[in-house]
Amino acid sequence: MSLSENAMEAFQYTALPARVLFGFGTIAKVADELVSMGRKRAFVLTDPHHATAAAARLMLALGEFGVQLSTDAVMHTPADVTERVMEKLAACDADCIVALGGGSTIGLAKALALRTDLPQIVLPTTYAGSEATPVLGETRDGQKSTIRSMQVLPEVIVYDVELTYGLPPAISLVSGINAIAHAVEALYAKDANPIMSSLAEQGIAALGRALPRIVSNPADRSARADALFGAWVCGSCLGAVGMSLHHKLCHVLGGTFSLPHAETHTVILPHAVAYNAAGASTAIDRVARALGADHAAQALFDLAVTNGGPRSLREIGMSYSDLDGATEAAVKSPYWNPRPVERNAIRKLLEDAYNGHRPL
Ligand code: NAD
Repeated sequence: MSLSENAMEAFQYTALPARVLFGFGTIAKVADELVSMGRKRAFVLTDPHHATAAAARLMLALGEFGVQLSTDAVMHTPADVTERVMEKLAACDADCIVALGGGSTIGLAKALALRTDLPQIVLPTTYAGSEATPVLGETRDGQKSTIRSMQVLPEVIVYDVELTYGLPPAISLVSGINAIAHAVEALYAKDANPIMSSLAEQGIAALGRALPRIVSNPADRSARADALFGAWVCGSCLGAVGMSLHHKLCHVLGGTFSLPHAETHTVILPHAVAYNAAGASTAIDRVARALGADHAAQALFDLAVTNGGPRSLREIGMSYSDLDGATEAAVKSPYWNPRPVERNAIRKLLEDAYNGHRPL
C-alpha cells in the first residue's frame, strides 16, 4: 500500500534530470537546443506516418544540423530493427539523436542511445510518455524485456502541442489511457512518494477531462494542451517509480502476443485496477477522485468505451487459446504488486478482459 492521506509515511525519492520545453510551435526551437548541448550532427528519427510533412518541418528547423533521417521506427522496439538502424547511424558520424514521433520512435531513439551514449532531443506526438522515463522495452525473439538506465533518458523534451493535432481521436484516446495507466500504477507503487502521487492525480485528471473533448473535437487546442501536459506528468510518474501488475500484463500481451500497445493498456487497465482495489484502496480512491467518479475501475472502463475505445482483448486481436499462455507468462516473474499475483485470479482477470466485461 502506498501513502495514506492523513499521515505522511517514510519515503525515498530521486528526482530525474529533465529539460522540458512545452508550447505551441516549439519545433522551431530544436536547433537552439542542439547548439546549447554543443552538438552539430543530428541523426533524426521518425515513423512512417511522419515521414513526409512533420519530418520535412523538423529537417527545416534543424537546417545544417540534420545529417540523416531514418523512418524505420516500429512498435515494441525489436532489437533487429535497432541493429539495422545502428548501421545507418554509424555511417553518418552523428553526435546526437533527434526523434519525432510516438513511443515507438522514442523507443528506437532510446535503444540507439543505450548503444552509443549519444544525447537525445525528443518531440513526442502521442501521449505514451516514454520521453520522461529512463525505461526501455526491447523485443528479442518474441520476448519483451525492460531495462532501466539513465543512458536512455532523453536529455531534452520538446512538447509541441501542434504536433498532436493530427493524432486521430481513436489513437488519442488509447494513447491517453496508456498515460493514465502510468499514473495509476505510480499511486500504488512500492516506492510511491508524495511528489509523484500528487503529480499522478493531476495527470489522471488532466487526461480524464481532455480525452472526451479531443474525441468530439480533435482540433480543440486547450484539450490537446491538457492531454500533452497530462502525458508528460504521467510519463514522469512512470519514470520515477516502479510498475506493477498492469504493466506486466501489457508487456506480456504486447511482447509475446503482439497485441497493439496502447489498445492493450486501455482494455487491461480497468481490470488491473479492479484486481488491485483490495490491496491498494487508498490509491484506487485517489484514481476515482481524479476522474470525478465513485468507482475507479468502472470510470476507466467507461472512459474508454463511451468514447469509442476498445473494451475487449478479443477485438484487439487476442486468441482465446492464448489466455493460458499469457497467464503463465504473467505469473512466472511478476513485478511487485500491492495484491499478490495469483494464477487463478489472473486467469479470471484475462478472461474478463478478453470478453470485455465491465469490472465489478
Ligand atoms: P506509436 O509510436 O507506435 O504510434 C502509434 C501510431 O500513431 C503510429 O502508427 C504512428 O505513426 C501514429 N502517430 C503517432 N503520432 C501521430 C500524430 N501526431 N498524428 C498522427 N499519427 C500519429 O505508439 P505509442 O503508443 O505512442 O508508443 C508505443 C510504444 O512505446 C511501445 O513500443 C511501448 O512499449 C513504448 N512505450 C515505452 C514507454 C517507456 O517508458 N519505455 C512508455 C510508453 C510506451
